[in-house]
Amino acid sequence: MSYLVLARKYRPQKFSEVVGQTHVVKTLINALKLGKLTHALLFSGIKGTGKTTIARIVAKALNCLNLQEGYEPCNECQNCQEINKGIFVDVLEIDAASNRGIDQVRELIENLKYAPAKGKAKVYIIDEAHMLTKEAANALLKSLEEPPPHVYFILATTEPNRLPPTILSRCQRYDFRRLDLRTMVQFLRYVCERENYKIETSALELIAKEAQGSMRDALSLLDQAMAYGVQTKEDIQSSLGWHEDALVEEVVQILLEKDLKKALTLSKNLYERGLDLIYLMEKVVEYLRNLFFAKALPGETTINLENPELKELFVTTSQEELLLILQTLLRDLELLKKTPYPQLQFELTLAKICEYKKLIPIREILQKLEEFATSGEAILIPQPSEVKITQKSWENFLEKIKEESSTLHTLLLSLPEPEIHSQEIILKLKGEEEFLKSTYLPLLKEKIESYFGKPLKVIVENYKRSTLDEVKERPEVKLIAQTFSAKIVNIQYTKE
Ligand SMILES: [Zn+2]
Repeated sequence: MSYLVLARKYRPQKFSEVVGQTHVVKTLINALKLGKLTHALLFSGIKGTGKTTIARIVAKALNCLNLQEGYEPCNECQNCQEINKGIFVDVLEIDAASNRGIDQVRELIENLKYAPAKGKAKVYIIDEAHMLTKEAANALLKSLEEPPPHVYFILATTEPNRLPPTILSRCQRYDFRRLDLRTMVQFLRYVCERENYKIETSALELIAKEAQGSMRDALSLLDQAMAYGVQTKEDIQSSLGWHEDALVEEVVQILLEKDLKKALTLSKNLYERGLDLIYLMEKVVEYLRNLFFAKALPGETTINLENPELKELFVTTSQEELLLILQTLLRDLELLKKTPYPQLQFELTLAKICEYKKLIPIREILQKLEEFATSGEAILIPQPSEVKITQKSWENFLEKIKEESSTLHTLLLSLPEPEIHSQEIILKLKGEEEFLKSTYLPLLKEKIESYFGKPLKVIVENYKRSTLDEVKERPEVKLIAQTFSAKIVNIQYTKE
């Protein structure tokens, strides 16, 4: 039994079955009704948006022996059936990208003068028209200038700008649009229902995203998904190799939304699927870089944001914020490349960004500061005093944490063993202070306090920089915080 691929099985056979491209279909039907269809049409648009499909429907509408209402071909008469099978003598499809194309164009031009053999009109559909050789294009040009009344040319191309202007100017142009996500998902859903195939909508959304507006690609991805028996979004991401773009978008969206919960869940999933986090982070950086350029140079750079949620986030996120996220990612990308704990580092990066609150442009802050003209009072930061006490076992606690949170467990392994004292537990850090700015610190404190019944104290050794809490207490910082009704959430050290 031969298997008919979905794209062929569900190829529209008449105008009303076409998905999307309503502007093209309406104009064509109107022109047909009024008898004003021009003899040279140019269908331009990305692959898989229905150019050849609609060209065939037009060919049928021009040749059908039993036209239906709305200029629909009947798909039953001999002409329609032969066109559907691709064996109708008066409708010729030429692939300009193949070598055969050149000979066919020559032959076509030879035969133009003859009236249609069987049908009412000769229709030449030239696929990939931008690939025509110069010679073939020139030959065609003559025919386009004065096409015989019974002849129609339909040139389909993904790259109209590569066609000679002389040809472009002789064709009536129809621009085929990328299909939007909703339309695609709807159609995929319809196909799955007809095929009796159960699949989650989120999986279909992922397919539609991946296809980037091409219905043919979407259907071919659905073919693959069905072959693998895929039913959920996670299945798709783990079993098929085409999750990348959608995944990158998902990460970017989470970062712009600053949704910590989503970020940590995603990170966990990614890790379980064994994805290359460095590669993913590089892609996210690249994506954000494009967003940043589009924001900074709006006239010169355009980006195509299909996802409406992401589009809105792009609009509401400031240039400063994009830059800060980008800087953080770039810096952490280097750490990610070196760390023995990539998942943890990845989570910390996501968490760090999600914790950034709405930023106020530095210009505004400086301006406000000038207005207040504060005096530069020097602040002395007291150094934490060291305490020497006895050591106690830590292992039982680690075992317990391992059961509860593998991430926290990994984090703790990477840190020096704390000292347990009669009144408190002391964690002495040298270079790991980054970890403790993360969301894991409160969690760690909570776990230690409830297990040992003693508070956790963190000491950063050989480290003269101020902590966040200390900075918050400085009068000038308090003033800034008051002025902007702001909360200081993070501090960044300048190079000394
Ligand atoms: Zn017919």
